[in-house]
Amino acid sequence: MTKKRKVTFPHFGDYCVPIEYLMRQGLDMDYVTPPPMSKRTLELGSKYSPDYVCAPFKIHLGCYIEAIEKGADTLLQTGGVCRLGFYGELHEQILRDLGYQVDFINLAMANYSKPYTFYREFKKINPDLSLPKVSGALLTTIRMVESMDAADDYIRRNIGFEQEEGAFDRLRADFLNSLALVESQKELRYLAGNYMKRFKAIPVLKPKRPLRVGVVGEYYSVMDPFSNHYIEREMAKMGAVVARWMNISNSLFHYPKKEIQARIRGYARYNMGATSMATIERALRFAKKGYDGIIHIKSFGCTPETDAMPVLQNISADYKIPILYFSFDSQTADAGIQTRLEAFYDMMTMRKGAAATG
Ligand code: SF4
Repeated sequence: MTKKRKVTFPHFGDYCVPIEYLMRQGLDMDYVTPPPMSKRTLELGSKYSPDYVCAPFKIHLGCYIEAIEKGADTLLQTGGVCRLGFYGELHEQILRDLGYQVDFINLAMANYSKPYTFYREFKKINPDLSLPKVSGALLTTIRMVESMDAADDYIRRNIGFEQEEGAFDRLRADFLNSLALVESQKELRYLAGNYMKRFKAIPVLKPKRPLRVGVVGEYYSVMDPFSNHYIEREMAKMGAVVARWMNISNSLFHYPKKEIQARIRGYARYNMGATSMATIERALRFAKKGYDGIIHIKSFGCTPETDAMPVLQNISADYKIPILYFSFDSQTADAGIQTRLEAFYDMMTMRKGAAATG
């Protein structure tokens, strides 16, 4: 009988819940959730990372170290369509140099168009894996991610306007705790439906024409609230409706690549990598729908999103829509972000007021 692995994966929003499900139910591994991300996570990651590497690399490294301290012995690493594809090897080298005796499952070694290759990578660590069991758990994991994303879409549209402050956050925390206990797809279906009804039952008081802000940007920074200094929450607190298309369901399970390329042909003909095309397409869509502003989020040093910025400026000029750009690094301070968000909000309010009276 093989010893149960204690596997971990860096924080990525709240997606650690479905990842844990997959590890436990599908791969027969224990899961070690890294400690909540903090200043220490960033400091640890930055201390041992190359200076100019993008922020997700540093954050992941910090999470790995903290999870190892908590008992993890196997690190799950992801591949990606930018330099992220090389990060696994570099993390491994750094952690080995630091003396950590851990194993790695590097999904960059798998081929995304051949699902079997993922099974092959996991089997290297757990030779007793059962393909039917992994497949079943994977399906439930996908449904779990979809139910989280659907709930978050609804919450994002309404959270600034609940009559009882904190009602959405409390119910969401409850929802995640319940998801963590799910054992089957049937249970998940019931739970997700039930919580969606409860989210919709929270009384909200929304003005007729609230400010609407679209959020676009780099994959990790845009989806991980800690990495983007909780920008969406801050905008919601000010009273803006926040919309964001980028999530795991849309980007991994239902990514409309051809449609995106066709829709932005007038602005960008060649793929600039990673999430850049989706960023442009969403920004264009927000502009066409008459949103009051767009917030672009990226990590410092992110080449694909840097390349997308001149295109966003063209969209901004053509549709007269303001765009606020954030580039985050481990050094970025909360106070500066807050000031810029407040100024952006005030500017959007004035423009909306002027448009209504003029
Ligand atoms: S998309 Fe940008 S920030 Fe994200 S891993 Fe790639 S280069 Fe780094």
